Order: sequence, then structure tokens, then C-alpha cells
Amino acid sequence: GYEAQLRSAAEFIRNNDDFLVVSHVQPDGDASGSTFAMAWLLKSLNKKATLINEGRIPEKFMYMAGSFSVIPYELERPERTFRTIISVDCADFERIGQVRSCFAPQWQLLNIDHHATNDNFGQVNLVRADAAATVEVLYDLALELGVELTRELSICIYSGLLTDTGGFRYANTTPKVLQIAADMLARGVQGHKLAERLLETMTYGQVSLLKRSLSTLSFAHNNRAAWLYVTLDDLSSTEATSEDMDGLVNYARNVEGVEVGMLFKEKQPGSVKVSLRSAGQADVAAIAKRFGGGGHVRAAGCTISGSLEEAIEQVVKEVGKELS
Ligand code: 5GP
Ligand code: MN
Ligand code: MN
Repeated sequence: GYEAQLRSAAEFIRNNDDFLVVSHVQPDGDASGSTFAMAWLLKSLNKKATLINEGRIPEKFMYMAGSFSVIPYELERPERTFRTIISVDCADFERIGQVRSCFAPQWQLLNIDHHATNDNFGQVNLVRADAAATVEVLYDLALELGVELTRELSICIYSGLLTDTGGFRYANTTPKVLQIAADMLARGVQGHKLAERLLETMTYGQVSLLKRSLSTLSFAHNNRAAWLYVTLDDLSSTEATSEDMDGLVNYARNVEGVEVGMLFKEKQPGSVKVSLRSAGQADVAAIAKRFGGGGHVRAAGCTISGSLEEAIEQVVKEVGKELS
């Protein structure tokens, strides 16, 4: 059970030192929050930690970093390897990306996550699929370890909760989520400032991309499915970054009557990243899995080889099967 997992995870941390902490490629708010929360947690236990990620932590999340830095693997290959690893917010081994090449032979890994599709790839696994975010699991772990919930650590936890619940609105917003959030506020977190920074503020890149991509909005299956797409050309001509695409998929999902919203992002010629969101009963993790991806029932993703047109055709067809 989960209690036993918490004890094993705490033991893994107490019995080791010199950790590599890694989250998934292209880290989001929960991945970033979990990375820094883990760093604060290890620091208060006087443990050494190195943070490495494939895909930079977006600038807008760097307020959580304190004096920690995260090595962007694609720019700075570390010269050493690591035997003791903690992965956060990674549903499967592949989500760690190229940082896997920093693992020493006979590595041992603690896998901390909240995805229902997590395949328990660690030697030690701390996975709670009904947690809204990985930071929620880290809150439990902090209590298990008796680590003080400082304001810095609380800010990381609150940020991951805020982003993975869409501002405490999605179906994963449980009483426990709000209880933890209340505890974080009581410890000095300024929730309204984080909401403004993470949810309200739009970059120029974001609005320009929104302007363009809304013109691609299309429907299928009696308007129960809708999608937008972003080409490489859209990205370069708006000077938008990949983070500027966060949240775009909601414009498809939020149309009335739409049950599955999709966003197709051309990553490089012949490779398309797909984001899937469910507004109804459809299990989009099941759809993503058919294409080698994964995620949650209501939010999932995958990467498809092929042109934008091919990716759209294949995924829209599978969505149709799920809706029938
Ligand atoms: P997003 O659409 O925001 O990139 O991802 C939505 C959810 O699906 C996230 O919880 C993310 O972890 C998961 N996800 C996205 N892409 C992939 C993928 O390629 N593989 C797996 N296993 N999960 C993914
Ligand atoms: Mn994530
Ligand atoms: Mn998450």
C-alpha cells in the first residue's frame, strides 16, 4: 500500500546521499515544482543533490529555485555519472529523456509520481494515482521524513498543485488538495501572486500564437472533437517558445459540446507532439497509449512520426472510436 511505499521512499532517502534529481522532458509547473521541492527537502536533510533535466526549466518557474540550479542536459553534459536517482512526475522511464545517460551502471532509482499510467520503473516506487500532482505526494513524503515545511518548500508544493489542477478547477481538485493548499497559505505562500504569475499573465509569444492557432480550430465527430495546430513556421514567426503553447489545447476542449480537445504541435519536420484533453467521459490516456504516449484520463499526450496532416488524421480517427 501507499503507507508502505512512503516508508520505503523515506528509507531510500535516509540511507543514501549524492542524489540525481530529474523530472520529465520539457518540464511543466508540477515537474519544476517537484524538482525544487525535492531539492529543498534533500537540503534540509543535509543530503547532496544534483538537478539535471532535458529541456530547460521555463523562466517563469525559476522563482522556486533559490540558490539551486538545474543543469540543462542538452547544453551542459555533466562529466560524472550518478548511482542514486530520484525521478519526479515521470510516468515512465522514457519520460526522463536523455538524462538517462547520466546513470551509472547499477543505478538505483526512486520513482515519485501521480500518473495512472506509471509502470513502476523504479527499484523503489512512490506512486499515488489519485494525487492531483507529484508535489502532493512530496507533501506526504515531507511529513513522513519529518522535514519542516518551510515557506520555500511550501511555494514549490503550492505551485505544482496550482498548475496541475488548472487553478484548483479540474476534477483532480480533491478535499485533500485544498487542505494542503490551505496549509501552504498558512505557511506564508502568496497564492494570488502565484496565480497571477502562472495562470493569468500571458506572454507576447502566447497571444500571438493564440491569434494564429485559433484560425486552425476544426471539428469532427458531430463537433464532439475539436483541435488546433501549430506549425514550426507559426512558432518561428511569432517568436513563441514551446511553453507559450501551454494551455492552447483548452481552447479546443472548452468549446461547448466538445468532449475531446486536441493540440498538434509540429516539433520538427516529421514529428508531431499531441496534447489530448477530455471534457467528458472519454479516456484520453487510453488514446495516447495507443500511440506510445500516456498521461491521465483527462489530460494525456504522445508524439507521432509523420506530417501534421497524418498525425491529425490518425489521432482524430482514434478519438472517434473512443467517442462512439
Ligand atoms: P501535455 O499535453 O500537457 O504535454 O501533457 C498532458 C499529460 O500527459 C501530462 O500529465 C503528461 O505527463 C502526459 N504526457 C504528455 N506527453 C506524454 C508522452 O509522450 N508520454 C507519456 N507517458 N505521457 C505524456
Ligand atoms: Mn508533468
Ligand atoms: Mn504532474
